[in-house]
Amino acid sequence: MDCIFCKIISKQVPAKILNETSHSICFLDAFPLTNGHVLVIPKNHHKKIQDMSSAENSDLFSLVHTMMSKVDSLTGSTLLAIHNGENAGQEVPHVHVHLIPRSKSDSAGPVHSMFNTSLKLSDSEIEKYYNLLKI
Ligand code: 5GP
Ligand code: ZN
Repeated sequence: MDCIFCKIISKQVPAKILNETSHSICFLDAFPLTNGHVLVIPKNHHKKIQDMSSAENSDLFSLVHTMMSKVDSLTGSTLLAIHNGENAGQEVPHVHVHLIPRSKSDSAGPVHSMFNTSLKLSDSEIEKYYNLLKI
């Protein structure tokens, strides 16, 4: 499969690997947005979070938890981001969690700054999505 992250896992492509567990690895992003930008990914190729097994999911977020302490110690604030699907901005179609150290002087803002508008929903629209999403 022509997947850059699968090639990193199989060592066909070099990467600065920081930590590894049975199902996941963490490495430095090659095009960092800030100093210390890392990625945590499952070793098996899955496009979306919900495609992973429960064991893979637990292992991935356990490694995120471990790495967060290290990454967060760089600036004291960290953006945790997953683009789950192409239309959500996912460029590499292999699940990956971004850990991006943030600081007051960086060029990013809060999550609402990613969008030009926010919705003003009616009560019936709120009820609709509540009913669609509740488990
Ligand atoms: P996305 O845009 O899909 O959310 O994130 C993909 C990330 O993978 C980007 O931050 C990009 O810099 C990183 N990336 C792309 N190619 C490589 C590579 O060959 N090596 C490493 N270490 N990171 C990569
Ligand atoms: Zn892959």
